[in-house]
Amino acid sequence: GATIGILGGGQLGRMLSIAASRLGFKTCIFEPAGDCPASHVANYHYKADYSDTDALTKFANACDVITFEFENIPTDALDIIEAITPIHPNRAALATSQDRFSEKNFLTRIGLQTAPYAAVETGEDLEQAIDQIGIPAILKTRRMGYDGKGQSRLMSPDDAVQAMTDMAGAPAVLEGFINFSVEVSVIGTRSANGAISCFDPGENVHRNGILHTTTVPAKLTRAQRTDAVLLTANILNALDYVGTMGVELFVTPTGFIVNEIAPRVHNSGHWTQAGCAIDQFEQHIRAIAGWPLGDGSRHSNVIMENLIGDDVNRLPDIAKTNTAIHLYGKADAKLGRKMGHINTVTGASA
Ligand code: ATP
Ligand code: MG
Ligand code: MG
Repeated sequence: GATIGILGGGQLGRMLSIAASRLGFKTCIFEPAGDCPASHVANYHYKADYSDTDALTKFANACDVITFEFENIPTDALDIIEAITPIHPNRAALATSQDRFSEKNFLTRIGLQTAPYAAVETGEDLEQAIDQIGIPAILKTRRMGYDGKGQSRLMSPDDAVQAMTDMAGAPAVLEGFINFSVEVSVIGTRSANGAISCFDPGENVHRNGILHTTTVPAKLTRAQRTDAVLLTANILNALDYVGTMGVELFVTPTGFIVNEIAPRVHNSGHWTQAGCAIDQFEQHIRAIAGWPLGDGSRHSNVIMENLIGDDVNRLPDIAKTNTAIHLYGKADAKLGRKMGHINTVTGASA
């Protein structure tokens, strides 16, 4: 049987591995950490650093196709791997979404709305950006940010100095603050022959910068639902994308604003495990393996809740009889760490 390679060994890699196993594939992860969520379920684990050319070469040779569970993979490592084995989604999609500035440039180029934005490297850039965009605003590092890390909010021009300090010299982008009514996301998959299947948009609530719940159905009109799915398809096509992607959207009176895109399966798509016959992980594996996509239509209403830090200690009490529990096998329930999630089915889809 064919072997699917996954760069990264976190919970997304673990759930991709499980989906791939169910489809009869062997899985092989590349991850520097020894004890990681995906290492408990993958068939093979290349435990090495991304600078280890020899290990990367062996890993690539062991795999028939390679994917990733996080977007911050060093470019040099990808060059080595790609010379041996195909990577999906493609390098251009990865490069675009690794950097918030190029991501917003791309979205603007294909006609989508983003928050007003400007690149910032120096205090002077920031002054200019504030003049242009106004306050309130958010300064974000261009690269590597997740779960609200690497961000600084500017409520007044006086916050500029602190915001520059928070960036610690990293290139950043200033974004105008969007007064959205709700946040939603669309998880979409594009197959190798260009077919697209998008899951129903989910409504997201964050706590302390970390996703707390995703609820389906989202409070959207029929027209908004269609819009959200079509713009996601536009993004997938424009990037000639193969695999599953998460698109985060702000709902505003003037339409959707794209917050960010993630070139991978997405936390806000975990509800699909309980809400659809084919979930986001299986869709991704099907896409990168060159299979036809499955039916991603939603049969149930679901609330997905992340178990962060010691939330996990409240199990099984917080799980109702209609709650599916997913734990990632992480040993220590550190503050802010995603330990698992629960999917509660709240009814049949209307
Ligand atoms: P993730 O874990 O989703 O990758 P991240 O660290 O990349 O998060 P963002 O998604 O950019 O961070 O921002 C986190 C949250 O902060 C958003 O979901 C939204 O609630 C809020 N936020 C971000 N940018 C803006 C903005 N321009 N206007 C208003 N709220 C924003
Ligand atoms: Mg992000
Ligand atoms: Mg986000």
